[in-house]
Amino acid sequence: MSEPSTPRRAFVTGGSRGIGAAIVRALAAAGHEVVFNYRASEGPARALCDELTAADARVEAVAFDVADRDAARAALDELLARDPTPFQIVVHNAGITRDAPFPALAPEDWDAVIATSLGGFYNVVQPLVMPMVRARWGRIVVLSSVSAILGNRGQVAYAAAKAGLVGACRSLAREVARRGVTVNAVAPGLIDTDMLEGVPLEHALGLVPMRRVGRPEEVAALVRFLASDEAGYITGQTIGIDGGMAP
Ligand code: NDP
Repeated sequence: MSEPSTPRRAFVTGGSRGIGAAIVRALAAAGHEVVFNYRASEGPARALCDELTAADARVEAVAFDVADRDAARAALDELLARDPTPFQIVVHNAGITRDAPFPALAPEDWDAVIATSLGGFYNVVQPLVMPMVRARWGRIVVLSSVSAILGNRGQVAYAAAKAGLVGACRSLAREVARRGVTVNAVAPGLIDTDMLEGVPLEHALGLVPMRRVGRPEEVAALVRFLASDEAGYITGQTIGIDGGMAP
């Protein structure tokens, strides 16, 4: 029998759509208060808040670009000034692709991909770590990708950013392990979200032993588990959720 998790305050980046929205729903359903961020999708963010508030969840959305260090800092400071309860669950999910063969990869695309995934990790997770350490309980979960493990044509920037997150998680896990804070990455394969638009699925599914795409809810269930009390002895790991793509 699994124990219900103690309710905590959670922060999720990129919660307005796709996997992030499923994570927000899963954490709210587990009884956590959830603050999520988004960059542009105000309508979907509001709709998600309305949906969860109607179900008696405590949820709030804040708009800022995770790649913008000052904006992230200002938003987090404002949230903690209003309510100093530490965020003891932090999920860095926001990420973008700008696929192109490497010789044709524009510098601004390299910068945007790295700044969102890897810069976003620093800009959001770093300010929230010390309060978690002081509370002696924390869960940090980061969305990496199967591309970080296998590599993928056209995704040199994306794979670099997502592999960078794996290294960051492993190192941070060692720094905070004795303080009750775990740090893990999840590495999804092909998940059915807007991010798959334009991906030639007939070819891509040939690389998936299960021959199907994953659902955002399947990734969210893994994240919810890693954020739970029960997952307290798992840290520094990268857990694949990819229908068998990566060995
Ligand atoms: P989507 O494109 O469906 O959603 C991305 C989310 O991130 C949106 O909520 C978006 O906000 C937000 N976001 C993007 N850039 C920023 C930014 N600079 N600042 C704040 N928020 C931002 O992506 P998925 O749900 O598919 O992906 C979620 C994560 O999972 C990503 O990190 C992705 O790399 C990873 N992943 C996805 C896979 C897939 O097949 N779908 C496979 C492997 C990994 P807004 O709506 O405002 O734009």
